[in-house]
Amino acid sequence: MLIERIWSGNSLRNFHFLIACEESGEALAVDPLEWRMCLELARERGWQITQILNTHEHSDHTGGNAGLKDATGAKVAAHERAAARIGGVDRGLKAGDVIRVGRSVELECLDTPGHTLAHICLLSHTDPPALFCGDTLFNAGAGNCYNGGNPEALYTTFVTQLARLPDETRVYPGHEYLARNLEFTLDREPGNAEAAELLAAARRHDPAAAVVTTLGREKRINTFFRLQNPQVIARLREKFPEIGERPDAKAVFVKLRELRNRW
Ligand SMILES: [Zn+2]
Ligand SMILES: [Zn+2]
Repeated sequence: MLIERIWSGNSLRNFHFLIACEESGEALAVDPLEWRMCLELARERGWQITQILNTHEHSDHTGGNAGLKDATGAKVAAHERAAARIGGVDRGLKAGDVIRVGRSVELECLDTPGHTLAHICLLSHTDPPALFCGDTLFNAGAGNCYNGGNPEALYTTFVTQLARLPDETRVYPGHEYLARNLEFTLDREPGNAEAAELLAAARRHDPAAAVVTTLGREKRINTFFRLQNPQVIARLREKFPEIGERPDAKAVFVKLRELRNRW
């Protein structure tokens, strides 16, 4: 499996991905908003884009479908409940479905509601695995829930699906928000040395060459995985005293998400 991450350079800070079979040169484009950039890179690599995957229905993920489909004839796949809203979807996906790319690539569909209620993450059958997580999980952050989502559903997705993946899973989100998210983590947990170190690097980095984190690292630097951390809870109680001294993990997650909306 070959992965190319394409930095859009747009104001929304989108990442696009090409996932290719090294044997056949067939490729899948994930959320190819700036579709010409995807097409150009595929041509440089000698790949044929045969499929498009939309992680969810928002237009910053689907807006390139028509152009790329016209140029390549690629088939579009998306969550079965997002298909009607996206339009032009050839394959509706549900949990456990496998997308094959060429002869060698298998990508398993995870049904991951929260950012929207029709969101798919792709998990590659490779060692280590790669997770293409759209707007569900960001580097050091979590997707917002105010455009068709639900924070309690996002919590359940984090705890029952994402947190259970192997720590060495590589994380490929749909946007580059690393520095801002680390600032939020550090405002919750000023003593998090690994987050502070990564923030110093993230402030200097070229987004096109941004670090690829692992899930193990996310559990150390992403406040949305650190729901039982005493400092996170203590800081959160300053804003939301009603959560009490021993809030459950779900209450912490939902309040963190609420706080992040206006932070
Ligand atoms: Zn979105
Ligand atoms: Zn987005």
